[in-house]
Order: sequence, then structure tokens, then C-alpha cells
Amino acid sequence: MKGIIASPGRAYADAFIVQEPRIVVEKTSIDDSDNELERLQSAIDACDVQFESLIKGLDADDDTATIELLEFQQMMLEDTDYLDKITTIITEDKLNAEYAVEVASNDYIGFLQNLTDNDYLRERAADIGDMAQRLLGALLGISRAIEEPDHDYIAIANDITPSRMAELDQDKLKGIALEKGSLTSHCSILAASLGIPCLIEVTGLLEADTTGKRILLDAEHGELVLDPSKQQIDAYLDYRKAREQDLEALKAYVDKESRTLDGAHMGVYANIISASEVASLLEQGGEGVGLLRTELIYMEETTAAPSEEKQFQLYSEIASALDGLPLIIRTLDVGGDKDIDYLHIGKEDNPFLGYRAIRYSLDTPEVFKAQIKAIVRASAQGNVEMMFPLITTIDEIRRAKALVSEVFNELDKGNVAYNKDMKIGIMIETPASAFDSARMAREVDFFSIGTNDLAQYLFAADRTNAKVLELNSYFQPTLLRTMAQVADSAHEAGIMVDICGRAGEVLELIPLWIAMGIDNVSVSIPEITRVRRKITQTDKAASVKLLDKVLQCDTAGEVQAMLGGAS
Ligand code: PEP
Ligand code: MG
Repeated sequence: MKGIIASPGRAYADAFIVQEPRIVVEKTSIDDSDNELERLQSAIDACDVQFESLIKGLDADDDTATIELLEFQQMMLEDTDYLDKITTIITEDKLNAEYAVEVASNDYIGFLQNLTDNDYLRERAADIGDMAQRLLGALLGISRAIEEPDHDYIAIANDITPSRMAELDQDKLKGIALEKGSLTSHCSILAASLGIPCLIEVTGLLEADTTGKRILLDAEHGELVLDPSKQQIDAYLDYRKAREQDLEALKAYVDKESRTLDGAHMGVYANIISASEVASLLEQGGEGVGLLRTELIYMEETTAAPSEEKQFQLYSEIASALDGLPLIIRTLDVGGDKDIDYLHIGKEDNPFLGYRAIRYSLDTPEVFKAQIKAIVRASAQGNVEMMFPLITTIDEIRRAKALVSEVFNELDKGNVAYNKDMKIGIMIETPASAFDSARMAREVDFFSIGTNDLAQYLFAADRTNAKVLELNSYFQPTLLRTMAQVADSAHEAGIMVDICGRAGEVLELIPLWIAMGIDNVSVSIPEITRVRRKITQTDKAASVKLLDKVLQCDTAGEVQAMLGGAS
């Protein structure tokens, strides 16, 4: 069976079907609303105790995302609007507590779903639905307990709610296959951060007879094998052995210098979206944050952009936690596939070619300036740099920098501390900025090449459309020639040039980045040590010769044949 990879890896274990208890709510009239309110309160108290014990059972360092989610659900139990609505249905309409909880929860969920068609908030609506099921279970005395096997297993389900995910024994849970699921669901995000292989959208999964079967989950090729052959099992066992040895061997690279055999340095930074990732970045030996995507901070709000103060607190927290390591904060990259309803970008025929990123920011200076001010103020708390996304013209750079100057003046007047030498850079992710990189380099302190977008715009191939994925290959010589030109422009102007798109972590391409003189690659956290190991095994002088040859290639196939590798 085929599925979409939500978290990579492979597993071979017994299938275990995770089925939530079915809760059916009836609508009944009541006479004694005080009694009903008491029942509601006891159910809320019971859920509160459940949340407390779930949170206590988790590791404060490793399970931060799950803990934040459970705390969010626990807080919902105290939300006055939500509770008022339930109470009104009980006391005024004289209806039972279960029905009141269901109506109030559905209203809330419907409100969130209608508010936006944004994936992130849709998932938060699902989190509220999950919390409501727990509350209904407590009211109706239906146990949520499921009989988890006493041995390793692969969870099979339609979808897995976040709190169920927190309840499953993570030592035994070796893989997840879902009939539905989504890439932005907490289940997918948690699976990826816990390193549990996960496939979603496995059509026909629940109809297939998996009960009691030992199955093979291959979330590297997007396959679930119900009756694996001996050959497939042997291949899995070889894979597992090699992987375990590899993970052990990679630990040696946490503290190693990111230097080639002949002494050239290319730093390994990481891309993050929240403060909760800084601890694991440091544990893996990350040398800084090459890209803080700030969109999530905006997506978490429902009615207006986060205040300057809130952003300042958050950026400062991350900067301090990094303890002097660089933190490159990218200003809001809204639009494209990231819609935030309250910003009123509106539906567009071609959102990736439309009102996106710096274009939106320059057009809404009040939103933009609050973010700039928060970033500039945070520069007093650590090694903060600011970066503008989707630059296409020099005019955009100048306009953005003029706003930064305004902010500097305002802070000077108010005697507010900040780093006057804070570095300001741009992302090179459009053909216009790549072609004009020599001129643009005179305007800024650094470049960071966003290969995800640069490839999509260079080849006019939507990065979210699987049908044109091949055009977006990082082995395309046109992309590599463009990047080499950008790196040359940066060096001629004496500024730094990083890569923060996914191409930065593709191992076969690392020698090319070293040859181009890329200063830092910013990769996903689990890849830090693997990328560093590759750097330490590479010789810069030999890579320069290799790059010369690669840049002469006509096709992606030729590049691939020269470098090896498959993506
Ligand atoms: C990129 O485009 O390569 C990039 C890093 O930015 P994002 O993926 O957030 O668009
Ligand atoms: Mg981008």
C-alpha cells in the first residue's frame, strides 16, 4: 500500500489498530440544572487530573511540543467563553451537560475552521475536538483506555489525536500508518520530532486485514507491506543494523569542527520555527540558527498580528538560549501556501506570484515595523541578525532598510538598547535577486540562498505540485550555476553567503557548497551531525575541480551521475 511520508524511517512490527471509543451524545431535557452543573464540574476536574498526570509523565526537555499541546487543551477547560456557552445551554435551555458540551465545542471548532482555511488553525480546531471527546468521556463514564500490546507495534488508525499520541508508550510505538492524517497535524509533527516513521493517506488501510499481522512500514519509499517476503525482511534487518550503527557513529560529530580534510570551514546551522527546538539544536551541536521562520508565531494568533512586546519576548528568549550563537530572524513570509486570515491577503489566482513575504510587509508598515522593532530590540539580548524574504528588487531592500533606520532612530530617542551593528541580509530565492546579486550585495551584510523557492521560480514549477517535482530537483545544473554566481557576487563584495533551503542538507551536494565557498548551511536539526560528518570527509581542493565539471553539465541526470544520490 502507498502513503505519503510524514516522518521518514522504517519499522517492522505487529500491527495494532488504535480505535477511539465511540461516544454518542443524546439530547435530553433536565429539571435540575444545579445537579447538571455539578456533573460538568466533576468531569472537568477529572480531565484536569488526567492532563496533569499526562504532562507529569512526559520529559520536559524532549516532549516540549506534546506538553505545550496538552497545556493548551487543559487551558481550554478554563476558557470562559467556552464554559459560559455550556452553562447557558444547561441553565437556560435546560438541556443535559453532554449535549451542551457537544454544541459548545462544535461551535468553537466551526468558528476556527471558518475563520481561516489555514492548515495550522484547522489542526488547532482538531485539538479542541480531541479535548471535547475527553470531556464527554468523563461525563459519560466511558474509559479512554486502550489495551496497548506489551511488545513493539506499528499503530494503524484513521488518524491519531494528539492526546492519544501522548498516551501511547513511545518505547513500543515503532511506526504509524494512517488512513487519513495531514502533514501539519500534531501526530505528524510529533512523529517527526520523536523520530517515529509515519505514513499518512494510506488509502484502504482500515479495510485491509492487518489485525495480528507483522507488517513492514517503509517511510522512506512511502510503502506499507502487509505480507513482507523473506527478502524484504532481511533488507529491513540490514537497514536497521546499519542505521543503529550510524546513529551511534554520528554522536562523535556533535562536538567536531565543521572543517574539510584540507581545513576549510563551513558552519552547520539549523532552521527552526519555535523556542522549544533550541535545546535539541544545541544537543546536536548546531552552530547557530540560520533561519527562524516567524510565520508560526503569526499563525498562532487568531485575530491580529502578535504584538511587538510578545515578539520581543520570544526572539529574546531564543537569542539568550543560544548564548552568543547567531540567530537569523527572517521577517514574516506570509502568502504563497501560508495564508493568515486576519492579515486579509485574500484569495489570489497565483499566490506564489502574488502578495507574499516582503511585498506584504512593505505594504503594511504598521505590521512590519512592529516586527522589525521586536527584532532590533532583541539584538541587545544575543547575536541577532535580520533577514528579508523574497527580495526581487533593490528598491525593496532600500525601503525595508529605511524602516529599520526609522526604528533605530525611535529606539535612540527612547534610550532603548540594541546592537547598532546588527547584520541585515536578504534571501536569494528569486531569479531577479540571483541575476542582480552583484548589485544587491552592495546593499546588505549577507545573503542566504532559499533553494526551495529559488528552484520553484527558476523553473516556474510550483513547489507544492508533485507532478512537477522533477523540475525542482536540486541536481539541476541551471540551479547550481545560478547559486555559484550568487556565491561569487557575495565574495566579490566581501559579504557572507549561506544556504537555508533544503538543498543545503543533501549530502551529495555538500562538496559543491564547500567549493562555492558557502559560509554556512542551515539544515533541519536531525541532519546536523550527518552534514557535519560529510564536511569532515570532504576535500575542498578536490571539490573545486568537481564543481568545475558539474557546472559544465547539461542535465540533472548528468550531475547525478557525477555526484551519486537520488533527489
Ligand atoms: C526557501 O525558500 O528555500 C526557504 C528556506 O524558505 P521557505 O521554505 O520558508 O519558503
Ligand atoms: Mg522561501
